[in-house]
Amino acid sequence: MSVDCIFCKIVNGVIPSKKIYEDDDVIAFNDIKPSAKVHFLIVPKLHVESLASCETQHQALLGKMLLLAPKIAKEQGLAGFKTLINTGRDGGQEVFHLHLHVLGGGEKPPKT
Ligand code: AMP
Ligand code: ZN
Repeated sequence: MSVDCIFCKIVNGVIPSKKIYEDDDVIAFNDIKPSAKVHFLIVPKLHVESLASCETQHQALLGKMLLLAPKIAKEQGLAGFKTLINTGRDGGQEVFHLHLHVLGGGEKPPKT
């Protein structure tokens, strides 16, 4: 837990979210500013700043996040989807708690 981290606050229920999935390691909730008809984030409960901060010890967690993407996407009614992990300020990351974007729905898939 990082005190100033918005996603840690969501994990701990301090800030509300539209939660669509939760287990011991991970939560998923709808993005507050969706870039597609369906846009949710898969977030580890553990505070890890970014993909660039991940090490071998995070391998299982990263695998779990990826494997959850198609499962939750299907539950959300998506036949296909895009995944995205922004990494570092130069990579467009705004929230420095690792997260996987999952986007889909609508006629055209989103560009990013
Ligand atoms: P990134 O640029 O990859 O760090 O993306 C951060 C994402 O978090 C953006 O798409 C934001 O819209 C989303 N976001 C920020 N605050 C919240 C929040 N309180 N609830 C849901 N999504 C959020
Ligand atoms: Zn955090």
